[in-house]
Amino acid sequence: MRESMSPELILQKYFGYNSFRAQQKEIIETVLSGRDAVVLMPTGGGKSICYQIPAMMLEGTCIVVSPLISLMKDQVEALRANGITAAYLNSSLSSAEQRSVESALYNGNLKLLYVSPEKLAGEAFMSAIAQLPITMFAIDEAHCISSWGHDFRPEYTRLKLLKSKFPNIPLIALTATADRITRKDIIEQLALANPASFIASFDRPNIFLEARPGQKKIEQITTFIQERPMKAGIIYCLSRKNTEEVSGKLQAKGIKAMCYHAGMSDDLRAKVQEDFINDEILVVCATVAFGMGIDKSNVRWVIHHNLPQNIEGYYQEIGRAGRDGSKAETILFYSFRDVAIFRDIFNSNGGPQLELKLSKLDRMQQYAEALSCRRRMLLNYFGEQVDQDCGACDVCKNPPQYIDGTVTAQKALSAVARLNQRVSANVLIDVLRGSGKREIFERGYNKIKTYGAGREFGQREWQYFIQQLVNLGIFEIAYDDYNVVRITDLGNDVLYGKAPVKLASLEKKLERDKEAKKAAKKKSSKEQLKDELFERLRELRSRLAKAKGVPPYIIFADTALHAMSEHKPTSDPELLQIPGMGERKLALYGEAFKEEIKKYVLEKAKTGSQVKGATYMQTLEMHQQGLTVPMIAQTRGLNENTIYSHLSSLYAGGEDIDIFQFVTESEVNLVIDFAKKMEPPITLRPIYDAFEEKISYTKIKFALAYHQRG
Ligand code: ADP
Ligand code: ZN
Repeated sequence: MRESMSPELILQKYFGYNSFRAQQKEIIETVLSGRDAVVLMPTGGGKSICYQIPAMMLEGTCIVVSPLISLMKDQVEALRANGITAAYLNSSLSSAEQRSVESALYNGNLKLLYVSPEKLAGEAFMSAIAQLPITMFAIDEAHCISSWGHDFRPEYTRLKLLKSKFPNIPLIALTATADRITRKDIIEQLALANPASFIASFDRPNIFLEARPGQKKIEQITTFIQERPMKAGIIYCLSRKNTEEVSGKLQAKGIKAMCYHAGMSDDLRAKVQEDFINDEILVVCATVAFGMGIDKSNVRWVIHHNLPQNIEGYYQEIGRAGRDGSKAETILFYSFRDVAIFRDIFNSNGGPQLELKLSKLDRMQQYAEALSCRRRMLLNYFGEQVDQDCGACDVCKNPPQYIDGTVTAQKALSAVARLNQRVSANVLIDVLRGSGKREIFERGYNKIKTYGAGREFGQREWQYFIQQLVNLGIFEIAYDDYNVVRITDLGNDVLYGKAPVKLASLEKKLERDKEAKKAAKKKSSKEQLKDELFERLRELRSRLAKAKGVPPYIIFADTALHAMSEHKPTSDPELLQIPGMGERKLALYGEAFKEEIKKYVLEKAKTGSQVKGATYMQTLEMHQQGLTVPMIAQTRGLNENTIYSHLSSLYAGGEDIDIFQFVTESEVNLVIDFAKKMEPPITLRPIYDAFEEKISYTKIKFALAYHQRG
């Protein structure tokens, strides 16, 4: 059983997408030509389709190696939901289940078989598949083979055998891990012969990037979550204890947040993960391991409660948001303290990679403090040259507004000088703001001349300024000496009036943030209606998912639901335009979604809301209640022709309407015969004229609708 369709048609028919993303087509063609390939694409970039489509086009079975049992299950479920034969073999199956998968494999009934690396490298399995028509090997998460990578798995090294045992079977290695050494290692370790390399952009334009000063975090997070009801998200925390604290505090604020970390029992962890996947729990406070083994595509936001150690980790973690391509948001909370904590840890651990770790931490800090486009910084970090601002980060949305900061800087500098360069940024701020803290008085800091000289600014503002003064090279933080603030040469120039300073104003930033937020809250009534329908479709999706025992995103991605709530499709051809709606899903779920949309549209129409398709639905409802066309026209205050036109469109869209009460069969045949000979586009007038005005426009419309339905 082999699909003799083009890749484009398969994409449409099975996956429900209209076009390939960058590089997918080329990768598919490469694999089909029999050449090995290495594919580097970010998470959510669409790697799977690159081997799934060739697998469907070739005679035989594609073997996919995947490291995580949960991922295999997800992928297989997603394939089956699209009507593609797939299965997996790993240690989670009972022996009866294993046998049934194996017999499907031997009988040639599987287009794709997912296996663990241990399974594949086993003697028995290797010799068994040597007898079968294997179309290709796809190695997912291929970076696991490299001991350079961050996720080395010894089992993967056994995949070296593949090329020597099966030299003629193409192999495609896929990963989202960017660095060059790992990539080279993948090629060497797998002994690939002259592979084609594909490196996609690492940009994830649907992910909004934002960094905020790390103060009153719980308050900020609570507001953020409350403003996004029903949206799932992850809060990454520094430590196990930290995950518990944060989830506890959020629970106290009435948010159903759970924690997840390696210290919990396996059962409890599995339960949290499962509930999160199924949208039963929406907020998880976790250590960075969470999210690795799950494919949940509708994570709508990711918050970093603390600064990550490096940009690689940060990017991977935020990458778990918005895999479905719908909009997702991220917030990074940042404070000097986070940096100091990591520095201490790195320094006390020492080791050969100390310098590297510290410099990566520096880059992370620079990112958090950036006053220019964050995405540009990220992509440049990963070696992509980007010369345009993104428009989808906090800095682009609200660019810094500069004020003359010379006097402000001098106040801070003078305070540091008078404190003999012996205090941390926090104590410095206390002194500048004239704090009444006991510690300040005990040390006599209240007696220095600059005590209270900076009262005009709040704590947050001072922090924002000092951060900038550090970035500008006016201050430096002595990380090796209790993080005290020191004055640089440039700082001395500023202090003695030899150099002016420009600072970005926090006050102006906050003002504009507020305005932007207000504007965003004022949703148009059209958008509100869209959200309302989205919620209803989401509930329907949950019900269907429960009944089937699969996660909701296997039924449809959020992108599909958004498209449905926007376009309100009520016929099969319209539904097929929805991204992710292949033929299988249309057959399984089309009816249910159509009904829900119709119901919604009709309800709205009755309350007088203008929603797309409402007038059709009202006509349909009356028609189904047995009202004649003249009666419907009269009740609705519309022209009879309009009602006929509604009915013919509804019929064309697949509604159950007996059109032969409006047009005879012979009239239908006459019109169709004539239309078939016409040059498209088919318009009514020439037909009307051809039959000397004896067949009315209404009848012609019904006949064409009949033709359209086929
Ligand atoms: P990866 O394995 O690279 O993380 P996936 O293969 O899981 O990514 O794809 C991510 C999402 O993008 C999935 O929901 C997938 O269906 C969708 N997708 C893939 N290719 C396309 C395409 N050409 N058009 C629209 N959506 C696509
Ligand atoms: Zn930007």
